[in-house]
Formats: sequence, structure tokens, C-alpha cells
Amino acid sequence: MGQHSDNSGNSGSLSTSRRSFLRYAALAAATPVLTEAHFARAAQAAIKPAATGGRHDYYLAPPEGAVIINANENPLGPCQAARDAIARLTPTGGRYDLYGETDQLIKTFASQHQLGEDYISVYAGSSEPLHYTVLAFTSPTRSLVIADPSYEAPMAAATAAGAKIHKVPLTGNHAHDVKAMINADPNAGVFYICNPNNPTGTLTTKQDIVWALENKPKGSVLLVDEAYIHFSDAPDVLDLVAADKDVVVLRTFSKIYGMAGLRCGFALARPDLLAKLSRYGLNPMPVTGSGAANASLLDANLVPARKKVMTDLRNENIAWLKQKGYKVIGESQSNFFMIDTGRSGRAVMKAMQDQKIYIGRTWPIWPNAVRITVGTQEEMARFRTAFKQVMDAPPGPEPPPSQTAMTDGVRPPRFTKASDS
Ligand code: PLP
Repeated sequence: MGQHSDNSGNSGSLSTSRRSFLRYAALAAATPVLTEAHFARAAQAAIKPAATGGRHDYYLAPPEGAVIINANENPLGPCQAARDAIARLTPTGGRYDLYGETDQLIKTFASQHQLGEDYISVYAGSSEPLHYTVLAFTSPTRSLVIADPSYEAPMAAATAAGAKIHKVPLTGNHAHDVKAMINADPNAGVFYICNPNNPTGTLTTKQDIVWALENKPKGSVLLVDEAYIHFSDAPDVLDLVAADKDVVVLRTFSKIYGMAGLRCGFALARPDLLAKLSRYGLNPMPVTGSGAANASLLDANLVPARKKVMTDLRNENIAWLKQKGYKVIGESQSNFFMIDTGRSGRAVMKAMQDQKIYIGRTWPIWPNAVRITVGTQEEMARFRTAFKQVMDAPPGPEPPPSQTAMTDGVRPPRFTKASDS
């Protein structure tokens, strides 16, 4: 096992386990847990840095009336039942989860998915367990294997762990190339599979995920990120968790449930795997996050209704783009999609930003492609008008590289001074 995962804590004296606890705690404290918002804002700041200095100089707050479709958020926000739960819980907020909101949330999810309650850890979003899984199972001798392009946060965590990163291009139909991923490194510690994948929204078949599980090196884990699974028709892999496989599944309430700012997410795995994550931190949940998440799970209509709204809007916009001759990449089954603009994607982002439309970033492997989050009907109408104007005009110059930009998702700008680079 790797450097961060080989200490069971029961092999030595108290001082040994204290030392290892302090080591985990120090590592966790020293490395920021990055969310989609960090990446989205860093990309925005890179094309138009803030004029003033200070702690938030990596990010220029969007102007009044801006359309924010750059971070795969859900403009619908929390459902009514979640809002009611928050209102009910607010007066109790002076106490630590007096009525067991987090336990209730675990019970609800466990019964809805026939999963043991000890297979569920609740966090304030899925970014934390994502980060901790990578810290726990990678090390200088155990690498991270990730698709390219994919969500950057695992790379940031692997960098913090001193692990090698193997980036494996998606297949021709934009699925994870599981064979190439498994062959990438016999000493890998984590194989990250994002399904649907961020930024393409494309699917990897369950058959391929199971194949990866059956063929991965001993001691490694599959980290299956199902942040966007509710927008898709793909089967989930919770049965693999229940069957005690070496798999950690991530779920979040930030996407279809519209709770990105409220914060709630799950790590779902065998109890011994969850124990390895908890060494890095297990902060008590805010009662509002747990209570709103539980109310959302109990609203049986929420997922199908929102899936339909988002799918219809996404498909309408993709149809419009294709009809105008723009190139949409892959078949997204999520609340975002990518466009190959045929010119510098960062220049397109900048031109769109000048019209107060904040679209998603580019990835190094596809510098001409931008990611668009599906917003409201009105927001998407403004997006279409601005996009056509931008694309009808001659390409603007590539914005100069910014010293505070995250070039490959591995440098958190908020924690890196320009003078450090
Ligand atoms: N995983 C993926 C693929 C994401 O895109 C995101 C956010 O956009 C996250 C995890 C983390 O989200 P959160 O911490 O809000 O649950």
C-alpha cells in the first residue's frame, strides 16, 4: 500500500498513531480542497484579471445582470421542500445537529438504495471525499490515472500527495478508455472515472467500469464520480459498493438538487475504505445542508422533473448550435456540453465575458473547446445571441497567460501568490 494508506493505526504505540494522525492532519490542512467554483473562477480571472489586489484578486466578481453558466451549477436552486427544511432548522442552528439531521439523511439514502448505513459518509459536498480518497490511495509510489479531459480536482489532490498523474485521452466516442487507463500504470493507487464525464457530459458503460474493477492492480481503488448521474440514463454503480468491491462512489447535492452553496455530498464505500478517508477530516455537517438534502431525497418528483427541464433545454440549445453549423463535441447526458469553436477557446470566453456571459473554461488537450452549463431558458437565449455575435466577428487575440491561472488544474490560484510562480 502507498505512503498514506499503509498505516492502519493499530500496529504501533499510541505515539505512532498520534504521529500518523498528525501527519494526515497536517497534509489535509496544507492542501486546499478545490471545487468546480475554484476552477471556473480561476479560468475567468485568467482572461480578465481583477484590477485591485487583495485576497480575492484571482476572481473578478461578475457584474450585475451577468449570465453565469461556467460552473455546472443549477439555476433552479434548492427545491421547495429543502427551503422549508432550512427555515424549520434555522432556529436550532445554535446547537450541533440536536435532532440528528445527518443520521436521518443517512437512513433515507440507505433505505432508498438498499445500502448499509455504515457504507455512507456525509460531507459538506463531494469535493472533500474526492480529495481525501486521492490523498488516501495515492503517494509518491502510487499514481493517479485519470481521463483527458476530465474533472481536474483529483489531479490537484494527487499533486498534494506527491503522486504521478497519468492522463489517458477519452475514446473516439468520448468514453473513458478503461483498457488504456488500467494499462497506464501497474502501481496506480486511484483510477478516477467521472460518469457522466465533466467536461464532456459523455458516458462510460457499466460494463467498462466493471471491467476496470476486475482488472485494476491490487490495492488500488476505482473512484467513480457520479456528480451528474441524475441527468443521464446511465445505471449507477452502487451495487458494486454494496458488493464490497474496491470502489468509492461520490454523490453530490450540488447539481440536480441545486444545493452547491448549501453543501452536501456523500462518499459511498465499504466501511474500511471510508475509514481511510475519515483520517483526513470528518467535520460535523451544517444542519441546514443535511436537512435540505434529506428533504430533497424525499421529494420523489424532483429528479425526474428537473432532469426533463435540463435535458429539453440542453437538447434545444445543441440543436440550435448544430443548425447554425457550430461543432458540439460528443453526446452530453448532463447539464453541460462542449463546443469546438475552431479558434482560441479562451478568446471566445473573453469575448463572451465582455458581453456579461460567463461560459466555462477550456482544457489543455482541447484549447479550442469551451464548456457551457445549461442555464435557464432566458439565460440560454442570451447565451445564443452573444455566442453568434462573437463567432460572427473575427477571432480576438488569445488572452495572455495569467500568473494566477490554473494551467492544468493543479495550481490553486487562491493559495498561490503570483510571485511564487
Ligand atoms: N465532481 C465533479 C465531477 C464535479 O463537477 C464537481 C463540481 O462541479 C464535484 C465533484 C464537486 O462538487 P461539490 O463539492 O459541490 O459536491
